[in-house]
Amino acid sequence: HLMSAQVENEAESAGETSLRPQWLADYIGQEQIKRKLSVYIQAARSREEALDHVLLYGPPGLGKTTLAMVIAHEMNVGIKTTSGPAIEKPGDLVAMLNELHPGDVLFIDEIHRLPKTVEEMLYSAMEDYFIDIVVGEGPAAHPIHFPLPPFTLIGATTRAGVLSAPLRDRFGIIEHMAYYSQSELEKIIFRSAKIFTMPIEPTGARELAMRSRGTPRIANRLLKRVRDFAQVAGCDAIDAATVNKALKLLQVDERGLDEIDRRILHTMIDYYHGGPVGLKTIAANVGEEMGTIEEMYEPYLLQIGFIARTPRGRVATPAAYRHLGVALPSD
Ligand code: ADP
Repeated sequence: HLMSAQVENEAESAGETSLRPQWLADYIGQEQIKRKLSVYIQAARSREEALDHVLLYGPPGLGKTTLAMVIAHEMNVGIKTTSGPAIEKPGDLVAMLNELHPGDVLFIDEIHRLPKTVEEMLYSAMEDYFIDIVVGEGPAAHPIHFPLPPFTLIGATTRAGVLSAPLRDRFGIIEHMAYYSQSELEKIIFRSAKIFTMPIEPTGARELAMRSRGTPRIANRLLKRVRDFAQVAGCDAIDAATVNKALKLLQVDERGLDEIDRRILHTMIDYYHGGPVGLKTIAANVGEEMGTIEEMYEPYLLQIGFIARTPRGRVATPAAYRHLGVALPSD
């Protein structure tokens, strides 16, 4: 499933370039982060230096890649993007670093998945803009000191906790991306609908936003599907009724939960009396990978208070029972 999310990600970045805001001023929400970044960017620009390294963490689809691009744009520098799993060996990293111009941004998505040897090479690159590489083999092997232009590393990760301390400590700017509010999502939906030249009623935007799990990527994806329904039905504008009809078919419920979310909750409630249940057990029952559940599903269920974490595992809350229409156990 993580794999398919990646593929989808790539398809999105190809087809959806137009949906990505270009400047801080068009980037909706994350107000605190934007305010701070705009100061750091102005200061770095006036000193004619590279911006300090930035670590962005938070669930997928919240706009980390988009924000990295916005930062490069605001700094008026180039950006190279890659991901942790794509850099297999130190040589891959050297090749990328070698292409950077002074001040450029190197964006590494899923930075927690960098191989250890590559990660260690990043330390000196980040701290003092050089790398030492060994060329040749056996007795002919010798180190080469390789200076780099000043650059900004922007790392994105779904979990800051899994990053090693030496890597984390080398980021001067560390920001946590939060889920978006209802009104921010409505703004994003209006903006995207305008780009699609598909009118949407405020009631339609409200309904869609409510079901987007606080996530712009999901808001945009649902908007695209609803637009298909509206066009086929010959609607002039997307209203709440169209959204409801379309999302019913997509099996997305009033809180934005899909089939897998509901399976997670049902597993906990039907088979384990609401928990505590370990993540591994949940994953095995649902038929998804543990990482997928932990990174893509659990954070939102925690956020809306449908599950809670305890030292002995996850528990389903009364709100989850109510949502599924299951009676609470008497004890
Ligand atoms: P991440 O890197 O965190 O997985 P992305 O940056 O790929 O997320 O964002 C997913 C989609 O959501 C993008 O297509 C982008 O257009 C949209 N998006 C994200 N954040 C915002 C925002 N703050 N304002 C408007 N659109 C956004």
